[in-house]
Amino acid sequence: MTERIPCIREGCPNTILPATAARTSGYCMPCKQEMEREERKRYIEANRRDVNLYADITDPVEVLKIMHEPQVRDPLIRYVPYEQSEEQVYLSLSVEQQDQMKDYAMQRIHAGDEDIGKDILIYLVCYHDISLSVEIPELLEQEIYYPAILYKSAPVEVRDRLLQQVSTDDENRNHILLMLAQIGDDEVVQQFRQWRQSPPSWASELYVAPEHYTTEAGWELTKDGQRRELFITPSYSLYKVKDYKVKESEATNVAISGDSLSMLTPSTNCCPWCGGALTTLINLDVKHPALWDVSWHAERLQIQTCLICSSYGVVYMELDAGGEPLWSSHNVMPVGMDEIDLDDYGKLAPDAGLEFRIADASRHAFHASEWAMEPSLSQVGGHPGWVQDAEYPTCPSCSARMKAVAQLDWGEVEEYGEGMYYMFICEPCQMTAVSYQQS
Ligand SMILES: [Zn+2]
Ligand SMILES: [Zn+2]
Ligand SMILES: [Zn+2]
Repeated sequence: MTERIPCIREGCPNTILPATAARTSGYCMPCKQEMEREERKRYIEANRRDVNLYADITDPVEVLKIMHEPQVRDPLIRYVPYEQSEEQVYLSLSVEQQDQMKDYAMQRIHAGDEDIGKDILIYLVCYHDISLSVEIPELLEQEIYYPAILYKSAPVEVRDRLLQQVSTDDENRNHILLMLAQIGDDEVVQQFRQWRQSPPSWASELYVAPEHYTTEAGWELTKDGQRRELFITPSYSLYKVKDYKVKESEATNVAISGDSLSMLTPSTNCCPWCGGALTTLINLDVKHPALWDVSWHAERLQIQTCLICSSYGVVYMELDAGGEPLWSSHNVMPVGMDEIDLDDYGKLAPDAGLEFRIADASRHAFHASEWAMEPSLSQVGGHPGWVQDAEYPTCPSCSARMKAVAQLDWGEVEEYGEGMYYMFICEPCQMTAVSYQQS
């Protein structure tokens, strides 16, 4: 048997065959590979150069074109990021620049770069609510059927064509129903009502009834066949400030919004299921313009929940006589919750909520609706950014679908946080609900 010899690297306990040693100058394979990796790293660090694709470019349209272009991956190049986020650049576009981007998107689609073209159109629709009525017939010609939000502004002829096509086009029916839900005008509402009264033959091939598709566009068909919105408007972004401690002492407007909003405050009430302290996700003055359309019988809208338990199932809260949140007797414990160990969960940092502000101005209602496009998601008002399918909880007291009032992107709250908390209300019952989704 050949005798193994020790690896010559200091501190390495491995032994190797003499034949290996001859090939590796005496090092074991793990050591040799690690040394090669380090060598490569030193080479990259010594030879890497910064590339600023945005140098001397001031036109936001040109900036966005570069942002949408896939970058060549090269470890020897460090791309200098643009000073603003893609979302910020989009929001800065004038009406004329939005048109330029729209034309550019259509060019890319015609050139075969469908994904880039679609992405641009999605941002323009979500962030600026632009109309694509001229472009929609072309998109359909290119057989682009999703995302459905692009079809919100479909002209009447297209709507009528889709209303025909949905009964014959088995392959695209799912997409067409979502498109019709986005269009959602009187004609469409009437069609969904008819389908509910006498389900078409193809309805049995769907996972849910046709009228259920409307919830993906943020509305439902009421019992008497009317359109009812499932989220409140306007939408106000909830954003984070850096160095909130500094800012609080110097800025005056922060003091005002700090008064009207507080977030992520621990409650003295405990969760009857897991025993942990309940948390008030948001606490907003009902006089804030974000809540102008909400009828609430207290001075503040407080949405309280158990952060742990509501990630397993919907948690409902009622209002007590003093207008304070109260654990609802309607709550039904999800299976397995009695085995939750609080020690498995981290504690929320006491200042987690202090960094949040509510925007001074509202934004478009569908700004955050395309979750996968990575918009700033936390908000009061606006269409929810569903991570999964749309899921509006049913009010346990009156059985109506509850309205979405706010959402909080947990990735913004905790360093390794993920998923989203969705907040809902039932105004007639003065009930709140919190649910959670993650990818
Ligand atoms: Zn070694
Ligand atoms: Zn709990
Ligand atoms: Zn209710």
